[in-house]
Amino acid sequence: MEKILCGVDIGGTKLSAGLIRKDGTIIEKITAYDHRGKPEDQIVEQISGTVRRLLGSNGLDEDDLEGIGVGFPGHVRYRDGVTITSSNLKGFKGYPLKESLQKNFSVHVKLDNDANAQAYCELRYGAGRGYNDLIFLTISTGIGAGIILERKVYRGITGTAGEFGHTIVDPRSDLVCTCGNKGCLMGCACGLALPYHFRKKIEQGSTTTLELPPDFSWEKVDGQFVSRGAAAGDPLCTSIVMECADYIGIGVYNIFQVFNPPLIILGGGLCNLGDMYMKRIREKFYELARDMIFDPIAIVESEAGSDAGLIGAAALLLE
Ligand SMILES: [Zn+2]
Repeated sequence: MEKILCGVDIGGTKLSAGLIRKDGTIIEKITAYDHRGKPEDQIVEQISGTVRRLLGSNGLDEDDLEGIGVGFPGHVRYRDGVTITSSNLKGFKGYPLKESLQKNFSVHVKLDNDANAQAYCELRYGAGRGYNDLIFLTISTGIGAGIILERKVYRGITGTAGEFGHTIVDPRSDLVCTCGNKGCLMGCACGLALPYHFRKKIEQGSTTTLELPPDFSWEKVDGQFVSRGAAAGDPLCTSIVMECADYIGIGVYNIFQVFNPPLIILGGGLCNLGDMYMKRIREKFYELARDMIFDPIAIVESEAGSDAGLIGAAALLLE
């Protein structure tokens, strides 16, 4: 029997584990929302227990697995599977996550950054099929990326390559990123920046045509709020969409200059800001790249869907 892949996607809000076929289809997955705030060792036990449950309910044992691939929402030291930091999870500073999981299993455990897993999923099963090189940028609560060169993840010396979210796109910005620097692409254009943009525009005298509920607070300004506002023609929300798209356009331009890739894939929740957003990203990019483009570059939306992190973590076992 062909071996099966096991994937684990540790997110900021949800933790998923699943059994995946080598063609990228899911046999079964279990998702939990109660891991956040638990100590690292408990999360390791939770993952191990979930994997055993999945095996049990499918009449399988460890020998049927190719291995266990784990995606982590933060910096990972790839060579020994130690987590460095995470902006979405407490703890995990210098934590031997791979080794701790490996103690519970006889099959190979592989640990990588979650954006790398998503990028790899796009390569094998999504918008990157048929390509050898691509850059995947995920724009969500934070901004992460994965670099695929010659069908492999490029990880850099430590394993933290691809952190385009922390490249600086606006040094005069007073927006402080989770990394502590000002003007990072992530600080300026991720979901966490939306309340700031909304508030700043109001304070500078912009008005919104939206009727704000009595319990309104700045924190309520998220991607859904802004995209609904922009779709309803609110000039303030529209200007936020355009401003964030401009920043991403600059980021895409920088990626183009460094890698000259044939394909840049954009994923993550903020891509739902609508056609106006995606259109403006491309416009900004072409405005900056002008006649420096000699071969076509495709800037497309992710195709792998919400399970990309889970499927990609598993698929990395085949890398
Ligand atoms: Zn940063």
